[in-house]
Amino acid sequence: MSCLRDSIRQIDPFLQELIEAIENASTLTVLILSAWRLARVLAVRIVEEVLIERAQRPTQWSDCPKCGKRLHSKGFVRRQITSVIGIIRWKRRVGRCPHGCAIGQIAPLDNALGLLPYQRTSVELQRLGCLLAIFVPFETAAVLLNCLISVKVSATCVWHWIQKAGQKAMNRLNDQLAELATGQLPLMESLDEAIGMLPLLMGADGVKVPFRPEGGKGGTVWREVKVAVLARLGRRSNSNAPQLRQRRLVAVLGKIDALRSRLWLEALRQGVLTAPQVVWLSDGGVGFWSLYTACFAFYAIGILDFYHAVQNLWKGAKAWLDGRSRKARQWFACARHRLRHGEANIVLNDIAAALKSDGLPETAHKALKNLYEYLDTHEYHIQYQKFRELGLPIGSGMVESACKWLIQQRFKGVGMRWSETGFNHLLHLRLAWVNGRFEELFALEDSPN
Ligand SMILES: [Zn+2]
Repeated sequence: MSCLRDSIRQIDPFLQELIEAIENASTLTVLILSAWRLARVLAVRIVEEVLIERAQRPTQWSDCPKCGKRLHSKGFVRRQITSVIGIIRWKRRVGRCPHGCAIGQIAPLDNALGLLPYQRTSVELQRLGCLLAIFVPFETAAVLLNCLISVKVSATCVWHWIQKAGQKAMNRLNDQLAELATGQLPLMESLDEAIGMLPLLMGADGVKVPFRPEGGKGGTVWREVKVAVLARLGRRSNSNAPQLRQRRLVAVLGKIDALRSRLWLEALRQGVLTAPQVVWLSDGGVGFWSLYTACFAFYAIGILDFYHAVQNLWKGAKAWLDGRSRKARQWFACARHRLRHGEANIVLNDIAAALKSDGLPETAHKALKNLYEYLDTHEYHIQYQKFRELGLPIGSGMVESACKWLIQQRFKGVGMRWSETGFNHLLHLRLAWVNGRFEELFALEDSPN
């Protein structure tokens, strides 16, 4: 009755065994798994068959890149690649220079197949390994590959894939930054018309990551990674609650200037020049506000994270009014309420009056002066009543949750310490993933040549 199974059965005894395992399977699960095993074996056979066939075709030898003499065939040599369907083996012709130039073995079929000289795993397998290692440690990624597709590779192998793909992502970014530096604007990412009409929200924050010390010996070195988020602020259709759309992340291990160029590049891509409204949300970090002033003040409404402002109010109240006394708590509650409801000027007047009062201890004076300057500097960024009326968020929670996802979740596991290069490679792959640019790093489609 079944032609397919019968014809496969006839090919060789090993396939016959596999077919029997399928036919003898009692449960559906065993049936499916047995069929899957056969499918993988058949897939490897078909690929090998095609490769062997192609290897038999006449080879066009190129000239030696050193002496220009036409290369000679040295016969067929084995090649093996580990792939998502298993290990594929075939033989193809390799050529050498007849003058013996040190150019190694040249295999035209490898080139045509897009294989590199020392490549041992295929690109679709590397992609899968990288995808896993974006979310889980390298060891776990290797274990998962074995569980999911029965391919055995080491954690080190997965680590190498990450280095390669991460470097590619970094090179792309550096090319784009170089173009931007010459005045060439990046293409805007294509947006749904409805999403393009939403306000563009931006914010930035710093988060510490554990690094190995230089030279490898000694304690952990904590270094700051700067993370920025860009998103369109939408509303959920059922609850009208805020919802971020088209979320994009930018991050850099480095100084604020390094973040600035990257953030500006992404802001241009996300339509900072055409968005109906642009909003910058950040806590008190001076560097981030100077970045805002330098790049975005012209386009964006700046909002100081409300909770950060409130923390500073409390610090001032404690220093001024006897620690956690009832008086301090009362003033704080009142000032907080005023700040939230557009009466920041009254809070500032309170503080100014307190600063003039006699007998104010030196430490309290200093704390209140800091608070005054902080609120005064951010005068335009603390108009919370107005921001709420405009439907804008007043807390920088979206930045914090981005930091948690991007950094905390993968880079701060138990006992983890990073090298700068290793960190950067994985960071850029995580960015590529979250920004929808991961697939670009792996050539999975046929190129036109
Ligand atoms: Zn030569």
